[in-house]
Order: sequence, then structure tokens, then C-alpha cells
Amino acid sequence: MTCKFSTTQRAKRVRTRKIADLLAETYPDANCALPTETPLHVLIATILSSQCTDAKVNEVSPQLFKKYRSAKAFANARQAEIEKIIRPLGLYRNKAKNIIACCRELGKQYGGRVPDEIKELVTLPGVGRKTANCVLVNAFAKPGLMTDTHFCRITQRMGLTAEKEPIRIEAELAKLLPAERWGSFSHQIIIHGRRCCTARSPDCTRCRILRHCEFGLQQHIPARRA
Ligand code: SF4
Repeated sequence: MTCKFSTTQRAKRVRTRKIADLLAETYPDANCALPTETPLHVLIATILSSQCTDAKVNEVSPQLFKKYRSAKAFANARQAEIEKIIRPLGLYRNKAKNIIACCRELGKQYGGRVPDEIKELVTLPGVGRKTANCVLVNAFAKPGLMTDTHFCRITQRMGLTAEKEPIRIEAELAKLLPAERWGSFSHQIIIHGRRCCTARSPDCTRCRILRHCEFGLQQHIPARRA
């Protein structure tokens, strides 16, 4: 089946803004579900959230942040001690190793503070663009597109991008929405992925985006007319 939408950049921009408006109406309170007390908390919690639910991170992070109260404390931690706390999150060895290496770098390069520029954040161990964007949005209220697996899957389904790589999806979406909407749009897409547009069975017939979504139209509108 072919796409029913115009593929000009202008039409795509209009459609993206319509989708963003509907998502904003549907999820007015969409926000970061991870700890956001300090930039360091956002950074560590985002590293911990890799391939694991926010709920799980929220279960273990109070104990972790109570024991290690600064980048310096994390930098000087024994890896085995951090592993013991974060074990339920999976990938715990790698995560503990990255947290320590990242916090050592924060001490060396930034006086123990978390930088607020993407070009600096992505140089930290264990920090890719997705994590860096999460930190920009959730710790510093700066523009950022959080291209996690939900974000990539849903923007592909909607037909807003045909790209496969998160970095390319980020670049394409950045051209479709003004920067000041990137953070809220990311949160809304992510929550939409949890509540409606799930990986296995998207609930298209109850979705407010249906008429603006390539997948939704292809799957459901013809069936209704038949
Ligand atoms: S119409 Fe279906 S595929 Fe499109 S966003 Fe909604 S739930 Fe997802």
C-alpha cells in the first residue's frame, strides 16, 4: 500500500505539527518519569534506564543516590558496591562501570558538574546522543529529541521518517518541528508508545492520531470502508 500523504517537506511539517498538537492535547502532563532532582540524578538515571523500565530505575535509584551524593562519590565508588544496588536493572556490570568512568570524567573535565551542551555530554563514557538529549531536556530544559526505541518505532509508523538509525531520525524530526517543541514532543510520543501505540498491538481505532498516521490509515481506513 502506498502512502496517502504528500511527501513534500512543507506538507510533512504541517502534518508533524498537527500530530504534535493532538499529542499535547492528549497527554498534557507527559513528563520525565525518572528522577530529575539534579542534573547528576538525570544523567545517572538515564544511564540506568537502558533496556529497563523507568519504574525499575525509580525503585533502585533512591538507595543509590542516598549512598552516593556527588559525582566525586560515584567516581570513588567500588564497582561491586554499585553493582549490588543496581543488579535488578540488568546490564548492571556495564552500567556500574560506565557510571564510575563517567563521574571520573565529570571530575576531571567539569569540576564534578554535568555539562549542558550536547557536544560535551556525548564525550562522557556511557553517554550517547539519546542519553545526552534526555539530560538536556530533563535537567536543563534545553531542546532535545529523545530518540529511544518508542520514539523511533512510532515516528516510523506515522510515516514521519523512513530512516532506521536514531541519529538520522533525530536529524529528520529536528527539521519538522521547532526546537522549543522537541522535548515535550519526545515525552508525548514516548507516553503514546506506552499507552496506545505499543510495539505489539497498536490501538489504532482508539488513537487520536489515526487520520494523520501512515500505518493507521493503511491498516484501518480501508477496512472501515469495505
Ligand atoms: S494510528 Fe496506530 S500506528 Fe498510528 S500512532 Fe496511532 S496507534 Fe500508532
